Amino acid sequence: MAYQVDCSQGDDFMIKSDDEQEVIEHVKEHAKEKHDMELSDDEAREMIQ
Ligand SMILES: [Zn+2]
Repeated sequence: MAYQVDCSQGDDFMIKSDDEQEVIEHVKEHAKEKHDMELSDDEAREMIQ
């Protein structure tokens, strides 16, 4: 099963991977760069669909 996150902030960011940790790292990086948000691993994991 793949892990997927769509950014809910109205941009086109989407990440999909079989590697949950990879998805988490990409989400954290995107949140920091684009939204100035510091997410924990748990917060990023909660966004996975
Ligand atoms: Zn975004």
